[in-house]
Amino acid sequence: MRIILVGPPGAGKGTQAEKIVAKYNVAHISTGDILRANVKAGTELGKKAKSFMDAGALVPDDVIVGMMRGRLAEDDCKNGFILDGFPRTVPQAEALDSLLAEMGIKLDGVILLDVDDDTVVERLCGRRMCKKCGRIFHVSFKPSSKGDLCDECGGELYQRDDDKEEVIRQRLAVYHSQTAPLVDYYGKAGLLLRVPGAEAGDKVLGHIEAMLGSRA
Ligand code: AMP
Repeated sequence: MRIILVGPPGAGKGTQAEKIVAKYNVAHISTGDILRANVKAGTELGKKAKSFMDAGALVPDDVIVGMMRGRLAEDDCKNGFILDGFPRTVPQAEALDSLLAEMGIKLDGVILLDVDDDTVVERLCGRRMCKKCGRIFHVSFKPSSKGDLCDECGGELYQRDDDKEEVIRQRLAVYHSQTAPLVDYYGKAGLLLRVPGAEAGDKVLGHIEAMLGSRA
C-alpha cells in the first residue's frame, strides 16, 4: 500500500500514520520528523532547514525532494509506505510523480484529514512533546500523569517552537496558500479520499480502512 496523508498542521497525520503502520506494516515517512532529527544532530540539512521551520515556513522544495529521493529508495519502502507531511506543494507533488514513475510504482490513494483552523489552534497550542522519547501529550486532552515529565520515560516535556500560537497561524496560512492546492491536484487524478479529521482517533482509522477497502 502506498498512500499520502494530507491535512493542516495538527490534523492528526502523525497519529493516524502510526495506526496505519501498525495495521499494514508499511514504512512511515514523516518529513517533519526527518527534518527535526537533522536539526537535533546538527547536520548540513538540519542547518539549512532550521530557520524555515522556526518561522513556520516551508523548507525549499529542492531540499525536500532530494531528501525524499533517498528515503524512498530505502529497503523498508518495498512493502509500501505512508507519506506524512510530504508533498506539501504542487511542485513537490509533481516531483513525487516523476520519482514514482522512475521507480515504476503508483500511489493507491491520498487521504485528506479535514480539520478547521480553530480546532488546529486548540490542538497545537496545548501539544507537548517528550524531549527523550518523542511521545506526544496535550495539556487538556491527553495530559501526562507526571505533570511536566513524560509518564512513559520520565523525560522533560516541551512545546515545539513552531507550536506557539503566532507560528501556528503562520503555518495555517502556509497550508492554505501552498498545500491546499494539492486537494485539487489529487482530486483531478482520482486519488483523493476525504476524511473528517476532527472525529476521535479510531473513527478516523475506520473511515480510512473503509475507503481503502472500497478502492481495492
Ligand atoms: P510537520 O512536523 O510535518 O508539521 O513539519 C514541521 C516543519 O517542517 C514544517 O512547518 C516545515 O517547516 C517543515 N517541513 C516538513 N515537511 C515539509 C515539506 N514536505 N516541505 C517543506 N517543508 C516541510
